[in-house]
This record gives sequence, C-alpha cells and structure tokens, in this order.
Amino acid sequence: MQVETTQPNREMPEVPPYAMRVVDALEAAGHEAWVVGGWVRDALMGRPGHDVDVTCSSPWEQTERVLRAAGIEVHQTGVTHGTVTAVVDGLPVETTTYRVEGAYSDRRHPDEVRFVTDVRQDLARRDFTVNAMAYHPRRGLLDPFGGERDLELGVIRAVGEPRRRFEEDALRVLRAVRFACRLGFSIEPATQEALVACAGELDVMARERVGAELDGILASGRAAWALRHEFAVMAAAVPELAPMAGFDQRSPYHAYDVAEHTARVCAGVECACGGRPSQALRWAALLHDVAKPACFSLDASCRGHFFGHPEEGARVAGRVMGRLALPKSMTREAQALIRLHDLPVRPAAASCRKMMSLLEAACPGRGRALAFALVDLKRADALAKAPACRGYAVELDAMATRVRAEVAAGCPLTVRELPVGGGDVIRERGLEPGPGVGLVLDALLAAVLAGELGLGREELLAELRMGE
Ligand code: ATP
Ligand code: MG
Repeated sequence: MQVETTQPNREMPEVPPYAMRVVDALEAAGHEAWVVGGWVRDALMGRPGHDVDVTCSSPWEQTERVLRAAGIEVHQTGVTHGTVTAVVDGLPVETTTYRVEGAYSDRRHPDEVRFVTDVRQDLARRDFTVNAMAYHPRRGLLDPFGGERDLELGVIRAVGEPRRRFEEDALRVLRAVRFACRLGFSIEPATQEALVACAGELDVMARERVGAELDGILASGRAAWALRHEFAVMAAAVPELAPMAGFDQRSPYHAYDVAEHTARVCAGVECACGGRPSQALRWAALLHDVAKPACFSLDASCRGHFFGHPEEGARVAGRVMGRLALPKSMTREAQALIRLHDLPVRPAAASCRKMMSLLEAACPGRGRALAFALVDLKRADALAKAPACRGYAVELDAMATRVRAEVAAGCPLTVRELPVGGGDVIRERGLEPGPGVGLVLDALLAAVLAGELGLGREELLAELRMGE
C-alpha cells in the first residue's frame, strides 16, 4: 500500500544500521516496515540515541520467520500484542505488527488487540502527536497528526479526542506530564483539561506502573514544574501530597506554602548537583516535608511548628515508595535523607562526623555518599525558606568541604572501620571475649566521632591501655 509522507528529503539523522537490518529484511520479504515512536520524536529534535522501535504490516509469526531467515535472533516478547524483539549486534529492536486497540472497559487494558494493515491506524492508537510519527529513510516522515509541528511548538497534545484517550488508559495522564517534563514542553489546553478531569482514574492503575512514571518525572529533573503546573496529577498519583497545596506554614522561617517550598527544593537539588542528583535525593526532595500538614501545631503566639515531621515524613515516604514498588535501596536512602533533613549540623568536624555516622547506620556502605546528598538537600531546603534563613546555605558549603576532608582523612563511621578491633580490646584491657568488648569499641568510636580522640591506631591503643 502506498502512503503519503511529508518532506521525504528532509534531513534526518541516519537510522542506526542495526535497526535498518530489521526494516530491510521485512521489506525485502514484501512487507512494510517503519521506525516509529520515541526514536522518530528524538531524531526530529536532534537527539537520535533513543532505542529503535519498528512497526510492520506482517503478523508476528511472519515477522519472526522472515527475520530468522535473515539470520537475526528473535524473541517472542509480547506476541499477544504482536511484538517480537529482534536482536542485532546485541541491540534489541522491538518489532510490532500494526494494531489498534479495542475498548478499555477496565480503563487499564484494552479488551482486545486487533491487527490491521494500515500504518495510519496504528499511529492513531498512539498517545501523543509527537509519539505518533513513523519514519522510513526512503519514504520519509509519516506524520498524520501534526507531531512535527507540535515538536516545534513545544506542546504535548493527545492524538484524537483527549478525554476519550485518557479514559481508555489513565496512565497516559502521567505519561503526558513525564513527556512534558522530559522535553521541556507545555501541555496543549484541551489535553490539559482532559488530564485534570481524568487524573482521578490513576488510582485504578497498577501501582508499579504509576511508580515507574513518577520516577521518570523525577528523573527528568523537572519535578518542580510538575508540582507547579500539574499538582492535581501529582496528587492523584500520590494522594499524600494533596495537603501540601496552599498549606500556610504560619512561620517566620517560611515564605511559601508547603507545595511551593517543595517545588523550590526539587529545583534546588537539581541546581546543587548540576542536574544529576541521585534518584534517592530527588525522591527525598519531593517528600521531605510531606508530613508537615499532619504534624502542624500552633503555639501561644500563633506561630506554626511541625514537631516530628522529619521522622513522620520518612515513615510516609516508606509507605508511598513501597506502594509504588520503587527499589528498596533507593527508598531506604530517601527515608534516611528525609529523617535527617532537619538535623542541626555545623561545619565542625564532630558535627559532620555525626551526620555521616547516622547515615551510615541507616544505609550501610552509603554514609559518605549520602552525607553529600544530605548537604545538598539541606542547602536546597535553606534556600527555599524565608530570606532570613538563607544564610545557612553558606555554612552548608563549608560543611561540604568539611565532609570531603573527613572522607579524605579516612574518618571511621562504624566500629568495623576503627583501626583497632576486638582482639586489641581483649589484649589491652584484659577482657574476656563478650558483649563488653563491643561496648568498649562503641565508646571508642563515639570518642573518635566527637573529635576527642584522633584517628591513628597508636593513639587508640594508648587510650585502651589508659582505660585499664
Ligand atoms: P521512552 O523514551 O520513554 O521509552 P517512548 O516514546 O519510546 O519513550 P514508550 O513507552 O517506550 O515511549 O512507548 C513507545 C511508543 O508506544 C510511544 O512513543 C507511543 O507511540 C506508544 N505508547 C506507549 N505507551 C502508550 C500508551 N499508554 N498509550 C498509547 N500509546 C502508547
Ligand atoms: Mg521506549
């Protein structure tokens, strides 16, 4: 079948040869095949690097047969949806038969998938115009919904009637926000209206899929944008965020409500880390004050306080991140950062060592890395408060320097990292093996962390002898 394309001679990056092997093998066998989706979108934006997906006219059984005959490895990765994965030079190419989807009576999964012969029908079932383009190096760009123009305008627009598309699959609500964040786009007004109307449907979605989309929103580095422009969607995905909106802190330390403060902290950790904070730090920034509304109290002078909010916030973060099936190690790290985000720390050695040892105790082996993350979180937090509190950021710069010096000096964070061990305690103190030995080592570590003892083995042995 002949399909019309726009600007067949347009300048496009080269489709990677490994993916063209798949396209060419299918077409040599008389089928039609196109590169589709994310690769086309990113290539038009001058960012070719995306994995390549192929869509084709052949039923999956034939796709498999043709590709195998061409010497290409094929895996049946989703044949009920018409998908096989070809592997060329070790690189995967998802190859899917043109298809459309039937009704979504559960708003999550199509009741049926129907294979079709026209690539345009396949493009019409895709979510956003910028994701609904197909490209072939000889036939050019096939763009029936104006995706290229929307790339130029910088908008995310639903393909077809937005409301119906979000009602079919509520995950698209979060996908819209994720793509807007990732590409730095805004959301076209009719799509935006439908987004808000359908956000409530997110609670029927599988939690891990919601978690993956949210993690993608945070990974874009633009969580602040999502909080400011798509708060209703964020709160539909994580209902615990809802009370933050408009929550007046009634405190001289705060110039913003909890949601705007949080948006500023999310933006602040991106700045602090040159746009590359860890995902744990990003989640900590999003959730660090999540328990403030629940922990709010007013004193006699009508000033707001939030006693216990870091501890409670860590608990809520554990619940939220667990529900969203996010990795346990990342959750633990985010919880440790949240729990300690208000810890009073000064640029002195003892204070920084204590912070590092608390983080190490919460996340063994991660105390040093997390100390830098905590300083970044605290700096972003300080800068997002009232102007009078922002001076603490200068002290935090000094703390980062101090933490670096402590790491370089080899400051131990656990008993096991002390340059003396149980054997030394038994010998120097004449103790029997047993819990008493551990107590002596604990006391030594505490003295080292407090700066009362140096880091050298000889000094610690001398201390053990003196204590006899
Ligand atoms: P990413 O870089 O995030 O992988 P992508 O565009 O490749 O971006 P995928 O989620 O991998 O996105 O999906 C590939 C393509 O499949 C999309 O470009 C889109 O055309 C289509 N698609 C994926 N999920 C949906 C959905 N829920 N509804 C409609 N179309 C979808
Ligand atoms: Mg993809």
